[in-house]
Amino acid sequence: MPAERSLQDFIDAMYSFGERHDDGRIEFNMDRLQELVRDNPEHSRQYVELACRKAAAMPGYVQPAAVVAIAHQLATGDRDLVEIVVKCADEVGGAPYLDRLAPQPRRAAPAGAAERQAARDWWRDRDEADAICDGCSDPLRRGEGYMVSNLVFSNGEVQIPAGDMLMCQRCFEKLQNRG
Ligand SMILES: [Zn+2]
Repeated sequence: MPAERSLQDFIDAMYSFGERHDDGRIEFNMDRLQELVRDNPEHSRQYVELACRKAAAMPGYVQPAAVVAIAHQLATGDRDLVEIVVKCADEVGGAPYLDRLAPQPRRAAPAGAAERQAARDWWRDRDEADAICDGCSDPLRRGEGYMVSNLVFSNGEVQIPAGDMLMCQRCFEKLQNRG
Protein backbone atom coordinates (compact mmCIF):
# COMPACT_ATOMS: atom_id res chain seq x y z
CA MET A 1 0.00 0.00 0.00
CA PRO A 2 1.65 3.22 -1.13
CA ALA A 3 0.20 5.33 1.67
CA GLU A 4 1.74 3.13 4.36
CA ARG A 5 5.00 2.99 2.50
CA SER A 6 5.30 6.74 2.50
CA LEU A 7 4.32 7.01 6.16
CA GLN A 8 7.22 4.64 6.84
CA ASP A 9 9.44 6.89 4.71
CA PHE A 10 8.34 9.79 6.86
CA ILE A 11 9.20 7.90 10.04
CA ASP A 12 12.58 6.84 8.68
CA ALA A 13 13.37 10.41 7.69
CA MET A 14 12.25 11.68 11.09
CA TYR A 15 14.58 9.33 12.96
CA SER A 16 17.45 10.12 10.61
CA PHE A 17 17.29 13.67 12.01
CA GLY A 18 17.77 12.40 15.55
CA GLU A 19 21.10 11.96 17.27
CA ARG A 20 21.22 9.54 20.19
CA HIS A 21 23.38 10.58 23.12
CA ASP A 22 25.13 8.27 25.59
CA ASP A 23 22.60 9.07 28.31
CA GLY A 24 19.75 7.82 26.09
CA ARG A 25 18.61 11.30 25.17
CA ILE A 26 17.71 11.80 21.52
CA GLU A 27 18.37 15.24 20.15
CA PHE A 28 16.44 16.08 17.00
CA ASN A 29 17.56 18.53 14.40
CA MET A 30 14.47 20.71 14.66
CA ASP A 31 15.24 22.69 11.51
CA ARG A 32 15.27 19.59 9.34
CA LEU A 33 12.34 18.12 11.20
CA GLN A 34 10.29 21.28 10.66
CA GLU A 35 11.08 21.09 6.95
CA LEU A 36 9.95 17.46 6.81
CA VAL A 37 6.78 18.20 8.74
CA ARG A 38 5.98 21.25 6.65
CA ASP A 39 6.35 19.23 3.44
CA ASN A 40 4.31 16.29 4.80
CA PRO A 41 1.41 17.64 6.85
CA GLU A 42 -0.74 14.55 6.26
CA HIS A 43 1.97 12.13 7.38
CA SER A 44 2.75 14.30 10.39
CA ARG A 45 -0.82 13.97 11.55
CA GLN A 46 -0.95 10.24 10.71
CA TYR A 47 2.26 9.66 12.63
CA VAL A 48 1.07 11.55 15.70
CA GLU A 49 -2.22 9.63 15.68
CA LEU A 50 -0.42 6.31 15.20
CA ALA A 51 2.07 7.02 17.99
CA CYS A 52 -0.75 8.05 20.31
CA ARG A 53 -2.58 4.78 19.60
CA LYS A 54 0.61 2.83 20.34
CA ALA A 55 1.09 4.88 23.51
CA ALA A 56 -1.96 3.21 25.03
CA ALA A 57 0.20 0.08 25.41
CA MET A 58 3.61 1.77 25.53
CA PRO A 59 3.39 5.29 26.98
CA GLY A 60 6.92 6.06 25.77
CA TYR A 61 5.43 6.68 22.34
CA VAL A 62 4.18 10.06 23.51
CA GLN A 63 7.77 11.24 23.24
CA PRO A 64 8.33 10.95 19.46
CA ALA A 65 4.72 12.04 18.97
CA ALA A 66 5.49 15.21 20.94
CA VAL A 67 8.62 15.87 18.90
CA VAL A 68 6.65 15.75 15.63
CA ALA A 69 3.82 17.79 17.14
CA ILE A 70 6.24 20.47 18.32
CA ALA A 71 7.95 20.58 14.92
CA HIS A 72 4.51 20.94 13.37
CA GLN A 73 3.69 23.86 15.64
CA LEU A 74 7.02 25.54 14.95
CA ALA A 75 6.56 25.08 11.21
CA THR A 76 2.92 26.08 10.90
CA GLY A 77 1.99 27.91 14.10
CA ASP A 78 -0.81 25.38 14.45
CA ARG A 79 -1.20 23.77 17.87
CA ASP A 80 -3.63 21.01 16.92
CA LEU A 81 -1.11 18.14 16.98
CA VAL A 82 0.35 19.35 20.29
CA GLU A 83 -3.17 19.28 21.74
CA ILE A 84 -3.57 15.68 20.57
CA VAL A 85 -0.31 14.66 22.27
CA VAL A 86 -1.09 16.49 25.51
CA LYS A 87 -4.47 14.77 25.68
CA CYS A 88 -2.93 11.40 24.85
CA ALA A 89 -0.12 11.78 27.42
CA ASP A 90 -2.75 12.61 29.99
CA GLU A 91 -4.83 9.54 29.16
CA VAL A 92 -2.03 6.99 29.09
CA GLY A 93 0.03 8.38 31.97
CA GLY A 94 2.72 9.28 29.48
CA ALA A 95 3.63 12.70 30.82
CA PRO A 96 6.88 11.43 32.42
CA TYR A 97 8.07 10.34 28.99
CA LEU A 98 8.00 13.92 27.84
CA ASP A 99 10.82 14.39 30.36
CA ARG A 100 13.49 14.10 27.70
CA LEU A 101 12.17 17.17 25.97
CA ALA A 102 13.87 18.99 28.86
CA PRO A 103 11.33 19.76 31.54
CA GLN A 104 11.54 23.10 33.27
CA PRO A 105 9.63 24.26 36.30
CA ARG A 106 7.34 27.10 35.31
CA ARG A 107 8.48 29.11 38.30
CA ALA A 108 11.72 29.38 40.27
CA ALA A 109 13.23 26.12 41.56
CA PRO A 110 10.95 24.81 44.27
CA ALA A 111 12.33 24.75 47.80
CA GLY A 112 10.55 21.54 48.71
CA ALA A 113 8.46 22.32 51.79
CA ALA A 114 5.36 23.34 49.84
CA GLU A 115 5.65 20.28 47.58
CA ARG A 116 6.02 17.95 50.57
CA GLN A 117 2.91 19.45 52.13
CA ALA A 118 1.02 19.18 48.82
CA ALA A 119 1.98 15.48 48.67
CA ARG A 120 0.73 14.92 52.24
CA ASP A 121 -2.55 16.62 51.33
CA TRP A 122 -2.82 14.47 48.23
CA TRP A 123 -2.39 11.28 50.27
CA ARG A 124 -4.84 12.46 52.90
CA ASP A 125 -7.56 12.63 50.24
CA ARG A 126 -7.18 9.01 49.21
CA ASP A 127 -6.98 5.50 50.64
CA GLU A 128 -4.17 3.86 48.66
CA ALA A 129 -1.29 2.32 50.61
CA ASP A 130 1.21 3.11 47.90
CA ALA A 131 1.71 4.88 44.58
CA ILE A 132 4.36 5.24 41.93
CA CYS A 133 6.60 8.16 41.13
CA ASP A 134 5.33 9.96 38.02
CA GLY A 135 8.93 10.58 37.02
CA CYS A 136 10.60 7.15 37.24
CA SER A 137 7.78 4.78 38.27
CA ASP A 138 9.57 3.76 41.48
CA PRO A 139 7.15 2.79 44.26
CA LEU A 140 6.23 5.37 46.87
CA ARG A 141 4.87 4.40 50.27
CA ARG A 142 1.85 6.13 51.69
CA GLY A 143 2.67 9.73 52.59
CA GLU A 144 5.93 9.88 50.66
CA GLY A 145 6.92 12.05 47.76
CA TYR A 146 6.66 15.56 46.42
CA MET A 147 3.67 16.95 44.53
CA VAL A 148 4.83 19.36 41.84
CA SER A 149 2.21 21.55 40.18
CA ASN A 150 2.13 23.41 36.90
CA LEU A 151 4.96 21.51 35.33
CA VAL A 152 5.63 22.43 31.77
CA PHE A 153 7.78 20.71 29.19
CA SER A 154 9.61 23.08 26.96
CA ASN A 155 12.07 23.02 24.11
CA GLY A 156 12.69 26.72 24.54
CA GLU A 157 9.98 27.78 22.12
CA VAL A 158 7.03 25.47 22.61
CA GLN A 159 5.61 24.58 25.98
CA ILE A 160 3.48 21.56 26.82
CA PRO A 161 1.62 21.71 30.12
CA ALA A 162 2.00 18.47 32.08
CA GLY A 163 -0.08 19.28 35.13
CA ASP A 164 0.67 17.83 38.56
CA MET A 165 3.19 15.08 39.21
CA LEU A 166 3.88 13.08 42.37
CA MET A 167 7.61 12.50 42.45
CA CYS A 168 10.12 10.55 44.51
CA GLN A 169 12.89 12.48 46.21
CA ARG A 170 15.42 11.64 43.52
CA CYS A 171 13.23 12.89 40.68
CA PHE A 172 12.28 15.97 42.66
CA GLU A 173 15.93 16.84 43.26
CA LYS A 174 16.72 16.26 39.60
CA LEU A 175 13.98 18.70 38.70
CA GLN A 176 15.26 21.28 41.18
CA ASN A 177 18.75 21.08 39.76
CA ARG A 178 17.35 21.79 36.31
CA GLY A 179 15.46 24.81 37.53
ZN1 LIG B 1 11.16 9.07 40.73
